Amino acid sequence: MSTGFAIALLTSEVAPLSKTGGLADVTAALAKHLHAGGHDVRLFTPCYGSVDRAAVAAQPIAGLAALPLAVGPHAYVFSVLRGSLPGNAAPLYLIDCPELYERAAIYTTDPDEHLRFLAFTRAVFAACQRLAWGPQILHCHDWHAAFAPLFLKSSYGKEPLFAATRTLLTIHNIGYQGIFSAAQVADLDLGERAYMLHQGDLAAGRINALRHGILYADAITTVSPTHAREITTDEYGMGMQDSLRARGTALSGILNGVDYDEWDPRRDRYVLQHFDADHLQVKAALKRVFLRRLGLRVGGEVPLAGMVSRLAAQKGIELMYDALPRILDTRELAFIALGAGEPQYEEFFTRLAQRFPRRVVFRRGYDEKLAHWIEATSDLYLMPSRYEPCGLNQMYSLRYGTIPVVRRTGGLADSVEHYNPDTGSGTGVLFNDFDGPAFAWALNLALDLYANPVHCARLRANGMRRDFSWQHQGALYEALYARLIAA
Ligand code: ADP
Repeated sequence: MSTGFAIALLTSEVAPLSKTGGLADVTAALAKHLHAGGHDVRLFTPCYGSVDRAAVAAQPIAGLAALPLAVGPHAYVFSVLRGSLPGNAAPLYLIDCPELYERAAIYTTDPDEHLRFLAFTRAVFAACQRLAWGPQILHCHDWHAAFAPLFLKSSYGKEPLFAATRTLLTIHNIGYQGIFSAAQVADLDLGERAYMLHQGDLAAGRINALRHGILYADAITTVSPTHAREITTDEYGMGMQDSLRARGTALSGILNGVDYDEWDPRRDRYVLQHFDADHLQVKAALKRVFLRRLGLRVGGEVPLAGMVSRLAAQKGIELMYDALPRILDTRELAFIALGAGEPQYEEFFTRLAQRFPRRVVFRRGYDEKLAHWIEATSDLYLMPSRYEPCGLNQMYSLRYGTIPVVRRTGGLADSVEHYNPDTGSGTGVLFNDFDGPAFAWALNLALDLYANPVHCARLRANGMRRDFSWQHQGALYEALYARLIAA
């Protein structure tokens, strides 16, 4: 029997099972950390068609097969499978409902998208009831689980099993809110509690899942302290700023941790050779291998800039439209981008690679191994985000001696420190304004610093020493859980 807290993590993504971004890394690593710390943490996530059931040794649970599930007027049948993620001892509970989760992708634009995650949320409560397990903390991630606090307050909380349950909503990306039509209000099954819905949204004809998590969770976090401040402003709040401001000190920021079992050049399972701050010649040798493999015809002394990203408006790709070709025209630089997403960004990188075939490569798609090679071999890492709740790759970059060039926003501002050539302190290059000239300034400065062996060595050494491990970040969540349970 665990001596720690009973914690249910509700998430739409968990690595390596189902990942489109940082959410998956964070929920997997947080669960691993909490489990190792002696907590009774259980991960709940949908069993998508793409889930490799054998890889997680998914097993049926007696009494949790073929259960009826009502989501408003819609009737489904679901089962719960138990398994565990590779290298992660936290118990995993998969909500299996083929009618809802056997789709072409994790997220869809199908008309029942909101039902897929309402059903998930209801199924977690039902699973807890069947398991007779009353979590002290329901830790809900993003809009997909954001109705859980409202459901707890409007109904489940009356049951002895959930009487002591407290809720935490973590916002990983406020740009995704789970908005659906007010005409579908019956899907929430709130009955006479429908007054608990945000009336302004309803009057405007919509229901916003994330907003209800903000209104009803006992506490709200986002994934960096700077972003916690940003999302209360009109510029970054994406329409949630008033609701967030109203919650006052219930909102805070906890920077994501890095899973250094996965992202550390001393043991990276994807790269040929390992290195640390004292063996950067290995990084240089790996870079030469990588340049050859990519077909880039430049010498190892030419700086390589890398980027691994969802290609979405959030990521600030348009800042590169003018600046990057101009810098490639005038300076020695090679560039590799890996990612997929909106067509205009894919086209930009495709055209850039056509224009500079000897120095630029664009790999469209999702490729875990290539992502690790880019981190391990690049000299600079580019992240000019419009907004960045936390961002992981800049922290990975620091550990790999890859100098981050980032915009001063959200978690980028909290994890990268602008280099000061006078004192030799700092870990990267930051720029403030969201425009092309600011990005060009930063990339040019980074190239200048890279070309100077003293500054380059200092930057790398400073960055490689930074520690964003879950040991520290996870303890901040544990302290918050403790406060909620004690309240
Ligand atoms: P976001 O969650 O906004 O996508 P983060 O920086 O928090 O951004 O996390 C992104 C995660 O997804 C990182 O682990 C990154 O390496 C990974 N990733 C993004 N795009 C790709 C891709 N095309 N191939 C491999 N990994 C990717």
